[in-house]
Amino acid sequence: MTAQLIDGNALSRQLREEVAQRVSALKTQGITPGLAVILVGENPASQVYVRNKVKACHDTGMHSVLETYPDSMTEAELLARVEALNADPSIHGILVQLPLPAHIDAQKVIEAISPEKDVDGFHVASAGALMTGLPGFWPCTPYGCMKMLESIGYDLRGKHAVVIGRSNIVGKPMAMMLLAKDATVTICHSRTADLKAQTLQADVIVAAVGRRNVLTADMVKPGAVVIDVGMNRNDEGKLCGDVDFAGVKEVAGWITPVPGGVGPMTITMLMVNTLASAENTLLRR
Ligand code: NAP
Repeated sequence: MTAQLIDGNALSRQLREEVAQRVSALKTQGITPGLAVILVGENPASQVYVRNKVKACHDTGMHSVLETYPDSMTEAELLARVEALNADPSIHGILVQLPLPAHIDAQKVIEAISPEKDVDGFHVASAGALMTGLPGFWPCTPYGCMKMLESIGYDLRGKHAVVIGRSNIVGKPMAMMLLAKDATVTICHSRTADLKAQTLQADVIVAAVGRRNVLTADMVKPGAVVIDVGMNRNDEGKLCGDVDFAGVKEVAGWITPVPGGVGPMTITMLMVNTLASAENTLLRR
């Protein structure tokens, strides 16, 4: 059996076109959705990510502001910038690119962002809203994974989903989103005693670890849906996921590639969240 591919690039294009149309509609009401991206320091990977985020804003007709600061920026200076953006009516989403330099408390900075502008969905208020089923911004990566499942018409009700990884930005919110769709969810992590025993029972597997070949063909039930969040480099320096793609695609029913899977969806869902934040301001008028 060869799995069908869930194409994150194609789905992203489609969703970004829909976003662009809604942005145009909002502009006729006098609102241009605006995203502020703050980058502190010179992490090369972060520089690529923020460029892609700003480009996605441009492509969908949104306003964007990119603020870059040297490593020497203090926590107090960064908090002051966040406060200023909280008060700026042209900005509907604030994203502070992680990781931050070690002398800055990232959680403190995230908590300083107004929950109304927390389009990354990392604020404790956003996490609490997701946990309790209240409206709020969902973290973009797991939100993108849910959109991928939706795009293939997959009904999660009663299915067994196994999430590998328990980070606050991917694994845990992913599990909550799957649970909200009535899946039975197992969360695995580095201390899980027998990962294979868990994944072999899964109808849906989401791998969010950051280690190559965490999931191999012998660990997958035939026909399962496999979503690969991981971003790693192989021996040739090429981007690869957590899943042994060549092996697993022979067993799975559906699979996401790396690159071209979850990666583009993450930025797309950032656009969706920023647009939603701007649309929310209409409700508060
Ligand atoms: P993280 O904070 O490092 O969390 C990794 C998780 O994997 C932890 O919960 C860890 O368990 C678990 N783990 C480590 N080794 C394991 C093993 N051998 N078996 C089972 N679980 C294991 O990473 P993250 O931020 O969630 O990101 C995960 C991956 O997704 C990374 O490759 C990252 O680059 C990628 N990512 C991609 C996107 C995208 O847009 N495509 C976005 C975000 C992240 P413990 O909790 O026990 O340590």
